[in-house]
This record gives sequence, structure tokens and C-alpha cells, in this order.
Amino acid sequence: MFAPSTRKLLCSTQLRRLQSILVIAEHNNEVLSPATQNTLSAAKKIGGEISVLVAGTKCGPASESISKANGISKVLVAESDVFKGFTAETLTALILAAQKQFNFTHIVAPATAFGKAILPRVAAKLDVSPITDIIGVNDANTFIRTIYAGNAVLTLEATDPIKVITVRGTAFPADPLEGGSAAIEKAPEGDYKTDLVEFVSQELTKSDRPALTSAKNIVAGGRGLKSGDNFKLLYDLADKLNAAVGASRAAVDAGFVPNDLQIGQTGKIVAPNLYIAVGISGAIQHLAGMKDSKTIVAINKDPEAPIFQVSDIGLVADLFKAVPELTNKL
Ligand SMILES: Cc1cc2nc3c(=O)[nH]c(=O)nc-3n(C[C@H](O)[C@H](O)[C@H](O)COP(=O)(O)OP(=O)(O)OC[C@H]3O[C@@H](n4cnc5c(N)ncnc54)[C@H](O)[C@@H]3O)c2cc1C
Repeated sequence: MFAPSTRKLLCSTQLRRLQSILVIAEHNNEVLSPATQNTLSAAKKIGGEISVLVAGTKCGPASESISKANGISKVLVAESDVFKGFTAETLTALILAAQKQFNFTHIVAPATAFGKAILPRVAAKLDVSPITDIIGVNDANTFIRTIYAGNAVLTLEATDPIKVITVRGTAFPADPLEGGSAAIEKAPEGDYKTDLVEFVSQELTKSDRPALTSAKNIVAGGRGLKSGDNFKLLYDLADKLNAAVGASRAAVDAGFVPNDLQIGQTGKIVAPNLYIAVGISGAIQHLAGMKDSKTIVAINKDPEAPIFQVSDIGLVADLFKAVPELTNKL
């Protein structure tokens, strides 16, 4: 007979063995996205055998790099021109084929534009509810996510037999991708071509600045900047801080900056060490995307602006005077 505590331990170990997780890697064939490393950490928290799916055109380098992560049993690789542009329609068919062969209990992807396009389709095809944008894992069936634009935290117990999950990158540490040597195998082969969509081309913004979602420092501007040209003030400040530049939705909607800079509920979720909000009022939809930043600095001429309620340092000032002064002093 086992002592009760030992028996409990044995059960949870056995349970972890029964779980098998498929992580969908986001990459550009060469390099994994940082969000994939965060997603891998979340998968490890769920516990169980972890496989990673890397699908692309010539994705050898990305597969190699994830195979080095500790605690992965295999990397399934699918290389074909069909996966050009990483379209959700083709990747969904591949994921379903992998699911049919391996019977995963969890399918997990980053809650980025990539994962958000694919996993709801996969969930619909498997007739289960997607569990989106989790920020915590209690156990293999219980996950934490925010609701009401980040104003309430929900603990969700999933009863579906297959859990299809997207992971908020900022809520989990990046897996260091070292200490392991997982087997690299071919993913199930099949005809994944679809008439639903055709990849034509892609134009990516080229920038020497850090990417918004992984930057340690961010300077973000809002409608208070008044024009796109005035964002130069923020770029100058960002250069001094090696920071990424972001924006509120109002600034994006007004055409000051492109929409890949948008931070918030319907934009990117960020959690840098330093977030400087300039001419941003602090609407809840904006806060939903940045309130987990470690130090928040707000510059706003209105002392009643809600951004001051979440900021660690607040400067009530005209941004057109304060920002150049700050940049010059750095
Ligand atoms: C469904 C939904 C989703 C949304 N998603 C998002 C989202 O993802 N991200 C997002 O940001 N918003 C989002 N919004 C919009 C959000 O509600 C706000 O409208 C938006 O965030 C406001 O942007 P802002 O703070 O730049 O503009 P405003 O609210 O107009 O604030 C401008 C601020 O600049 C200050 N200011 C003006 N001039 C100066 C100056 N010279 N010096 C200093 N300060 C100055 C003003 O005092 C004011 O506080 C969403 C809304 C909805 C309904």
C-alpha cells in the first residue's frame, strides 16, 4: 500500500504521462518568433509529452533551433511550397492530420496574428471551444485568462477532450532553447493545398528598432501627438533608450502611424520594463495591452487623464516641451 501522499503523486505523474501537447511553432523558416519560446514554457507548465510542429518552405534552421529546447520529445517538420505565407487554411489541414495520427490532448500556439488565425479554425474542425490568450496554467484542464478588456481575471476549467489554446507571450518566460536534442521527424504527408486562399506576396516593415512585443523599453504616442510628423519626437526619444515605438488606436486610426504599432485590446499586448505613454489618455482598451509593463511613465497635459491611475511616474506637461527636454537630457 502507498501512503496517501505517494499515491496522489503517482496519479499526477501518470496523468502527466497521458497528456501529449502539440506546440505550433511560429517562425520565418530561419528564426523562431520569441512568442514561440513563451508558448513552449506554457506547454511545459501544462505538463506531458511535448511535440512541436514546424511547417514552412525551407524551415530547417527553425526546426534545428527548437529541437535544442529541453523537454521536447519530437519536432514534426512539414516542408512544402503550400505553406508559403503560413496561411491558416493550409496549416489547419496539416494540424488536423497530425492530430489524427498522434491524438494530442492539447494543441497550443502563440496568441499572435499567426496563432489567432489558425487555432479557432482547428478548434471548430475538432468541435471544441478554443481557449484564447491564456495568461496562466493551473493544471492540464484549468487555465487563466482575462476578460472585460483585462478588467477581470477568469479561471477556466476546460472539459473538452482536446484543449486548443493560444498563449499570451508576455505572461510566460521565454524558453531558452537549450539543453535538449529532440528527434526531428517528418510531419504526416498529405495534400494540404487549398482553393480557399492563395499567398501572393508579403511586405514586411524593416526596422533596426526592437520588435514591439519583445522590446524592453517602449515609447508610445497617442492622439495628443496631433500628426504623424510629430511622432519624430518619440523616435528621437526611443533612439536614446533603444526602445520600440508604439501607439494608441486613436493615433493609428488618425493615420499618424501604421497599425502594426497599435497597442491594446485590439492591438499588441506588451509588458516591457519601461513604458512611456505620451499624449495617451489611458482608455481601458489601451490599458489592456500595456498595464503589465513594469514601470509606466505618463506624459499628459490633463492631470485627470486616467493613464495617471496606472502610471508609476506621471508628468503633467505639454508633450511638445517635455519630450524634447527629456531626449536632450538622456
Ligand atoms: C472595441 C474597442 C477596441 C479598442 N481597442 C483599442 C486598442 O487596442 N488600443 C487603443 O489604444 N485603443 C483602443 N480602443 C480605443 C480607445 O477606447 C480610445 O479611444 C483610444 O485608446 C484613445 O487613444 P488616445 O489616448 O491616443 O486618444 P485620446 O483619448 O483622445 O487622448 C489623447 C490624450 O492626449 C492628451 N494630450 C493632448 N495634447 C497634449 C499635449 N500637447 N501634451 C500632453 N498631452 C496631450 C490629452 O490630454 C488626452 O489625454 C478601442 C475601442 C473599442 C471600442
